[in-house]
Amino acid sequence: MSIQIYNTATRQKEEFHPLNPPQVLMYNCGPTVYDYFHIGNARNFVVVDAIRRYLEFSGFRVRFVQNFTDIDDKIINRANETGEPWDKLAERFIQEYFVAADALGIQRATIHPRATEHIPQIINLVQKLIDAGLAYVVDGNVYFRVRRFHSYGELSGKNVDELEEGARVELEEHKEDPLDFALWKAAKPGEPWWESPWGRGRPGWHIECSAMALTHLGETIDIHSGGCDLVFPHHENERAQSMGATGKPFVRYWLHNGFLTINKEKMSKSLGNFFTIKEVLAKYPPSVVRFYLLSAHYRHPLDYSDAALEEAKSAVGRIREAVLSAEKLFELIDPAIAPPSEAEPSAEVAKFESAFCEAMDDDFNTPRAIAAIFEAVADLNAWRLKLAQDPRNPALAADVAGLINLVHRLLGVLGLDTLIFGEGKQDVGTESRLAEELLQLLVKVRKLAREQKQFAIADYIRDELATLGIRLQDLPTGTIWIKEKE
Ligand code: AMP
Ligand code: ZN
Repeated sequence: MSIQIYNTATRQKEEFHPLNPPQVLMYNCGPTVYDYFHIGNARNFVVVDAIRRYLEFSGFRVRFVQNFTDIDDKIINRANETGEPWDKLAERFIQEYFVAADALGIQRATIHPRATEHIPQIINLVQKLIDAGLAYVVDGNVYFRVRRFHSYGELSGKNVDELEEGARVELEEHKEDPLDFALWKAAKPGEPWWESPWGRGRPGWHIECSAMALTHLGETIDIHSGGCDLVFPHHENERAQSMGATGKPFVRYWLHNGFLTINKEKMSKSLGNFFTIKEVLAKYPPSVVRFYLLSAHYRHPLDYSDAALEEAKSAVGRIREAVLSAEKLFELIDPAIAPPSEAEPSAEVAKFESAFCEAMDDDFNTPRAIAAIFEAVADLNAWRLKLAQDPRNPALAADVAGLINLVHRLLGVLGLDTLIFGEGKQDVGTESRLAEELLQLLVKVRKLAREQKQFAIADYIRDELATLGIRLQDLPTGTIWIKEKE
């Protein structure tokens, strides 16, 4: 099956065909760097990263651009409040973006362009729009002439006349029409500025993204993404500017994620109901945060609560325990039977991968893809128990090894594998780690008791553990413990 993507522009799922396969040109609107990003922003970055990884897994080669908006009213205001120079402030939060994004397993973009490094391209683009009659200059400001662009409103499904009614209230003196938006803003005293043919000033937000997308990806890109709050006006304006300047289609598939909410309300800086990624990562390991962010379909709302994060934590713990216990079993049985890394998946194992891909092909349905991983994990638990009882069965060993590899591979596609099993190993569930260590200790004590022929003590340990749902299994090379219930 091919990949289906819900395209905001057509309001339906469409089969995905990039312009020049296997290449995929992808642009995601990046953060405005005046603070730590919040967990709502993180949803966009993580979801888009998982989509990018899945496209790569499906054989596409993704050229992925995500910008930094490093000049903006919010940056200037914050700098004025704190006294830090605006460019130092932006640089600091760019570095903080990378720290948190790296922790969450978000791969670096092919290019991370910064708006302030594209001033000549922005000026060129604005000039082109002026030359085409789509923009005009008033007192050092340049505005886009919305009514002159043929299909304004098509992306967001808005009607220009209705927009006009809403816009009238906030009439700005200079504009020909209240609908028009700024491409270039004349410098106000104390603000950063760049020289331009229209005097000193700085770019508007929308034109920055058009210029960076055109510079690094060309006139027509395959996927443009962002949170659904960006559909209007940001993406509508980006589309008008880019198409107005090139006369070519700008984006083939517009993709927008739903909001992360808190008490069902959009999480946002302006409402003050946000948790920064730094705060969240201080409470939960990155694997849990990433798992939580992928646990809902990207277009649906996702509500933030401690209960939801705790649920994600226990789900991650279940995956981890199943895989680590199975890997442990292989250490104890003869590794020559089925070296885990070389096992080929059997048909039984491959069905989980098909279910995973079917879910991801269907507009990147991560909750269904995760459910497929859990089905594999359930089988892994069941087969591991069988293998523990029949450790010399090579077919069974191969299936268990195949399942271990499959779970790692599918978690890897979602960017979760290294977070769950890699460097982040220590930070998932200290409690369960302690429990694991105590169990190992009991197993050792039982071994010592048996060596000293204290069989009553050894049996007591085994029987008491059994009442707790933990069965000990003696193998020729050692003893493993199997949790029989959660
Ligand atoms: P910003 O730094 O505000 O430009 O936002 C960066 C990205 O996060 C954009 O794609 C926004 O649409 C997205 N975003 C902002 N708030 C939320 C939220 N509450 N839930 C999901 N995405 C969001
Ligand atoms: Zn943008």
